[in-house]
Amino acid sequence: MSRVKLLDKEFELSIPEEKLLKAVDQVAEQMNVELADKNPLMVCVLNGSFMFASDLMKRLNFPCEISFVKLSSYAGTGSTGQVKELIGLNENLEGRTVVLLEDIVDTGLTIINTVDQVKQMGPEDVKVATMLFKPDACKRDVKLDYVGMEIPNDFIVGYGLDYDGYGRNLKDIYTVVE
Ligand code: 5GP
Repeated sequence: MSRVKLLDKEFELSIPEEKLLKAVDQVAEQMNVELADKNPLMVCVLNGSFMFASDLMKRLNFPCEISFVKLSSYAGTGSTGQVKELIGLNENLEGRTVVLLEDIVDTGLTIINTVDQVKQMGPEDVKVATMLFKPDACKRDVKLDYVGMEIPNDFIVGYGLDYDGYGRNLKDIYTVVE
């Protein structure tokens, strides 16, 4: 399938599954070295990162747990703009290494807010793993410990990412056709 139509928009294939899985392999290899003795809590930030989290977890060979969180659709305001509240993280984080699993870092706002909220729960360390990163969109100083792939500043769907709810099931990534 080189093109898909979702709602009113057309998308064309841009990153095949094979390439995505190679990127996940590399992230997993890095984690298998760096996190082997950390007993980390992996935190999958829903909805978009469910595919990345699933493929990544299968490749990790050290003891670790996984938890699933959401950002509330309610948005207040804070120093960095819109703040969405992190919900569903009920574990005691004291003394833990927490690894946030994100689908994509675009402007960086979401991950900065999420890291801030997790830090307030007293973990020993917070690391960030993102499947995709748009360096041209991200003007903030964001510390990304693990990055699957850097991509151009275009709107994409697939591999967990949606357009208005659709397209999350696509195994490859597609870019919107303008
Ligand atoms: P940020 O706060 O870094 O600007 O945005 C992060 C969130 O925006 C992601 O978790 C994702 O939900 C959404 N997002 C950013 N870029 C894209 C994109 O190209 N496609 C889709 N489907 N969502 C995106």
